[in-house]
Amino acid sequence: MYPTILRHPGPTPIPKKVELAMAQSMISHRSEEFVKLYRETMERVKPIFGTKQEILLLPSGGTAALEAAVVNSVSPGEEIVVITVGAFGDYFVSICEKYGLKVHKLEKNWGEACTENELIEFLKPLSNIKAVFVTHNETSTGIINPIKQLARVVQEHSDALFIVDSVSGIGGVSARMDEWGIDILVTGSQKAMMLPPGLALLAVSEKAWKVIEANRSTAYYLNLLSYRDWAEKGMTPNTPAVSLIMGLSAVCDLIEEEGGIAKTTERHEVMKNMVRSAMKALSIDLLTSDEFASPTITAIRTPEGLDLATYLAHLKKKYQLDFAGGLGHLQGKIFRFGHMGYCFPSDILQAISLMEAGLQDFAYSFEPGAGVKAAQDVYLSSLRKRTPVF
Ligand SMILES: *Cc1c(COP(=O)(O)O)cnc(C)c1O
Repeated sequence: MYPTILRHPGPTPIPKKVELAMAQSMISHRSEEFVKLYRETMERVKPIFGTKQEILLLPSGGTAALEAAVVNSVSPGEEIVVITVGAFGDYFVSICEKYGLKVHKLEKNWGEACTENELIEFLKPLSNIKAVFVTHNETSTGIINPIKQLARVVQEHSDALFIVDSVSGIGGVSARMDEWGIDILVTGSQKAMMLPPGLALLAVSEKAWKVIEANRSTAYYLNLLSYRDWAEKGMTPNTPAVSLIMGLSAVCDLIEEEGGIAKTTERHEVMKNMVRSAMKALSIDLLTSDEFASPTITAIRTPEGLDLATYLAHLKKKYQLDFAGGLGHLQGKIFRFGHMGYCFPSDILQAISLMEAGLQDFAYSFEPGAGVKAAQDVYLSSLRKRTPVF
C-alpha cells in the first residue's frame, strides 16, 4: 500500500504527465503524426545535449548506444584510450576489447575523477589514438569527470574522437556538446531523463560523421548511418519505442516548464549539496570529494558500526525507502543515493528524515534532526539566492 520511495540511479520515478503521455493510443511509425512527434521532440532534446546536431534514437538500453558509438567510429586493431574511474568505465573497456580494439586504459581509483593533467601525461607517449572514451557521470561512485577540460585536452593533444557516456548525466547535469567539442554523446532514458528503460539517445559531431562514413562499419541494427538517413525523413530505420517517444515529448514539456535545462541542472546541484551537507552533519563519510561530486547520485560510506545490508533492508521494509548498494569491490562498503530526474528538494528532505529514523532504530549515535536541518539550510539558502526575501 505505501509507495516505494525509489532513490536509485535508474530506473527512476516517472512523472504522472509522462505516464499519461505514454498511455496514448498507438500510432504507426510511418505516419505523419509520428514524423511530427519525432521532429518536434528531437528539436526540443537538442538543448539538453547542448547541440545543433540531430538527436538519434535507438530502441534500446544505454549499452547498445555505447556499443553503436564503438562499432561505428573505430575498427578492430585500432588504438584507443578509455578513461575508467569506476564500473561503467570498465564496461566501456569491455565493449572495446570485445571489438578487438587495442585499449590503453587510463584507470583511476574508484571515487576519483580523471584530471586534465593526467590525460595530458597519458596521451604524451601515444601517437595513433583514434578515439578517447570516457564516462561523464560515473554511476558506481558518484563522481563527475571534468568533461569540458578533458575535451579540450583531446583536441589539443590528439586527432582522436572524444566519445562520452552520459547515461546517468544528461537531463541532470549540464552538457554543451558542441561548445566543449564532444564527438559522440550518449544517454539512456531511465536515469535523469525521467522515462522508463528502453530508449537510448545519442548525437554525433560533424567530425565523427566523417570518420563514421569512411569507416563503413559492418553493424546492421546499430548502424548510425542508417539512423541518420532515416532521421532526415523524421523517422527511424525500424520500429522505434513509440510510446517512449510520446513520453519524451512530455519530459521536454516538464523541463521547459521548469525554465529550461539550466534550471533543471541547477535543481540537481541543490539536491547534491543537500545530501552532502546532511551526511556531514550526521558524521557519515562520503566516497568522493566535493569538487568532483556528481549532481545526480551520491555514494555514501556505511555509517560507523552498522551492517550495510541489514540497514538498507530495514529502510526498505520499514520505511519503503529504497537505496542502491555498491557495485564491484564497493559492495557492502557504500550505498548510492540517487537524486536524478523526477526528484526534488522535498524528496531529499523525506529520504534524509527516513534515513535518520533508520539510524535511530540501530542506535547510531547522532543528534536527531541534524541531517534534515543541514539539508533544509542548503535548500532555503538556494531559494533565497533565487527569489527576493520580503
Ligand atoms: C546505467 C548506465 C549504463 C548502462 O545503461 P543500460 O541502459 O543499463 O544499458 C552505462 N553507463 C552509465 C554511466 C550508466 O549509468
